[in-house]
Amino acid sequence: MSPRYACTASPAPDLYNTPKLGMESADLIRDFKRYYGTYLAQDKGCASGHYLFTALAFTLRDRLFNRMKHTKHTYAESHCKQAYYLSMEFLMGRAMGNAALNLGLDKETEKALHDLGLNFEELIDMEHDAGLGNGGLGRLAACFIDSCATLQLPVTGYGLRYEYGMFKQSIKNGFQIEKPDHWLRDGNPWELERPEFTQRVKFGGHTEFHREHDGEMRVYWVDTNDVLAVPYDMPVPGYQNGTVNKLRLWKAAATDEFNLEDFNSGSYTEAVAAKNEAENISMVLYPNDASENGKELRLRQQYFLASASLQDILDYWVANHGQNFDHFADKNCFQLNDTHPTVAVAELMRLLMDDHELSWEQAWDITSQTMAYTNHTLLPEALERWPVNMFGRLLPRILEIIYEINARFLREVANHWPGDKKKLASLSIIEEGPQQQVRMAHLAIVGSYSINGVAALHSELLKKGLFHDFYQLWPHKFNNKTNGVTQRRWMAWCNPALSELVTETIGDKWITHLSELKKLEPYAHDKTFQKKWHDAKLENKKRLADLVKESCGVIFDPEAMFDIQVKRIHEYKRQLLNVLHVIHLYDRIKRGDTEGMTPRCVLFGGKAAPGYVMAKQIVKLINNVAELVNNDPEIGNWLKVVFLPNYQVSAMEVICPAADLSEQISTAGKEASGTGNMKFMMNGAITIGTLDGANIEIREEAGDDNFFLFGLTEEEVVEARHGYNPRFIIENDPDLKRVVTLLEAGHFNQFEPGCFDDVIGAFTNPHDPWMTVADFRSYVDAQQQAAEAYQDKERWTAMSIINSANSGKFSTDRTMEEYNNEIWKLEKINPSYD
Ligand SMILES: *Cc1c(COP(=O)(O)O)cnc(C)c1O
Repeated sequence: MSPRYACTASPAPDLYNTPKLGMESADLIRDFKRYYGTYLAQDKGCASGHYLFTALAFTLRDRLFNRMKHTKHTYAESHCKQAYYLSMEFLMGRAMGNAALNLGLDKETEKALHDLGLNFEELIDMEHDAGLGNGGLGRLAACFIDSCATLQLPVTGYGLRYEYGMFKQSIKNGFQIEKPDHWLRDGNPWELERPEFTQRVKFGGHTEFHREHDGEMRVYWVDTNDVLAVPYDMPVPGYQNGTVNKLRLWKAAATDEFNLEDFNSGSYTEAVAAKNEAENISMVLYPNDASENGKELRLRQQYFLASASLQDILDYWVANHGQNFDHFADKNCFQLNDTHPTVAVAELMRLLMDDHELSWEQAWDITSQTMAYTNHTLLPEALERWPVNMFGRLLPRILEIIYEINARFLREVANHWPGDKKKLASLSIIEEGPQQQVRMAHLAIVGSYSINGVAALHSELLKKGLFHDFYQLWPHKFNNKTNGVTQRRWMAWCNPALSELVTETIGDKWITHLSELKKLEPYAHDKTFQKKWHDAKLENKKRLADLVKESCGVIFDPEAMFDIQVKRIHEYKRQLLNVLHVIHLYDRIKRGDTEGMTPRCVLFGGKAAPGYVMAKQIVKLINNVAELVNNDPEIGNWLKVVFLPNYQVSAMEVICPAADLSEQISTAGKEASGTGNMKFMMNGAITIGTLDGANIEIREEAGDDNFFLFGLTEEEVVEARHGYNPRFIIENDPDLKRVVTLLEAGHFNQFEPGCFDDVIGAFTNPHDPWMTVADFRSYVDAQQQAAEAYQDKERWTAMSIINSANSGKFSTDRTMEEYNNEIWKLEKINPSYD
């Protein structure tokens, strides 16, 4: 640590008596003016949005940081157990609206700005999304920490402060174009740099074993290339409860003595340039959702997160308890968001043994009682494995520890299944083969006391399939925690029209107790209430129609059914099935077969991983179909299709309140949970979906009559793979036959011959893992039922109300209560601020 951050002065205690800041609009105006005019030194003339935004952010931030400090002190004084959520991704989106809402300042802020002749919404729109995640997994982490703060659970998030977040997507000629997302360019007013808590992370080098004076063997990891980890703290406010938890994000920085040798031998510029290598670690988020990448830099990122976070937590422990770790496991636990931070299992062992001189047994007791692992996918392409060679070169000491963990674990396996060599090979943390690999999921399972899936079906499939042998060995470790979303962002904030109606009808308790929405059910068939509900939806649809017009130049009629699929573009999510249905509708309209049809606006959104060729071709297909459909006068208002570019959190805040039909159409058994499905349900959309992930639980809650079910079940999918013959199905379904004929004739790519050959080849292949064609007929039938239901406005509105009324289970408040009751066992702490 640089000496300028060391503790030297001993000021009067009064220095720390931070006065509480006023919460009236007059207080906000005073602070806003000071930031704008004095701190940012803005003068008369043109007022730029950036400075206005920044002044407001600082005004709110002061109130957040005061509470964050107070919350931290309360936790410290109570000596409570704390949990740490380790995640490579936190897809936070914008902070301003959420900060105002959770501080209880949304109305006062609006008033203050209005008095200053300013508009709150315009300032909110200035903010860049914090896009430090790919999709569901990263957004889940963001919803989790929101709920933990609202429940007053002492939980801290740890992640990476990527310089470049998820790429920005634009569409050119129908193709996805990726541009870097330099979200920090204009500064980030919500973060506080804490250089005094910098950590040092080792890479490379080798290990040496020395016998000490006391006869103990000690290991030294030496000749390393160290990188500094500098923390940036972001406030995570609970809902109007005085609690502000912390999200700590690490930035990589070169050490001062970096490459001193080069420096001394005269290669001054080379030495300075070498700083780049260190600083690269936190440069960019890997844009792969549900697939591993295997690049060395990614492993560096993972270890960097695990090591910096654990050292930070151990420093805090030692500051309070010295080198006594007897009660460490009673006071700390770590939740691993997928296998990404799982190297933490071995890193905690290393820190406890090599830095804090615990024995293997002591260190293992602590590690295996504090680590808990959440699995997010069954897709084999997403299972992380690292080549042993690379691992040993980058993290030699960690690899030794993994070998020892594995040796001890395999003895346990041999005891349980004597003489079973196959079991040893299939369970081992090290996969044998031409190139040995470290299986990160196995390390996570062996090192953790809890292993959970993210929806009921997913957790069952983990026990039945992927982790079956581990389940035999340790059934008590396995459990389910169905995902959720926070209703503060995903309803109270993003859907003011509906929120006001709900609050005027049943009160505002739903904002912290979502099951209260059940009280709406008696109003489902009440005509006056239905009218208000419908009007709120219409207002939201107009807002989305404006966005679509602005970004795609296409006119959506708010009276039409808004049929929406937004999520990462992936074959298992089957955007392709949706496009086939759109082509089918197009074909029907062209043939004049519009009986029973309802005018539809179909919206697609989502990013394809830059290296995922098939996903990018699907984006192109959607765009080409949209182009033809939207410009055909015969199609008119029956059908509009758009691909909305750059789907992100702030876009979803406009999209989900406006949806009528929520497309959740993955191949059964492939979507672990889904959370987009929950945002839509909460806001009164009706789901058309397969029995996959949390759709199953959504249908249970909403009732069969309020859900459009189609498709094979997970078991039927497994069964139907044998003898699957898509060409036969196409030949025997005249509707599908016409759709495929149009595609094969190049109807949507007349000037781009062969453009969709790969896509056609994929869904007509008997080995198509996603079984798109198998579900076509039942999907089209379910879509027809939806179209007919939509024509009965009263029926549809009742279904919409019933969906929202029964969405209580899908709050992350419920999810976090379950994590806490069954895994973390933390005491809730009320800091009693105010
Ligand atoms: C909720 C959300 C997701 C997850 O959507 P799924 O449909 O569950 O895959 C992805 N990205 C963003 C921006 C989200 O808000």
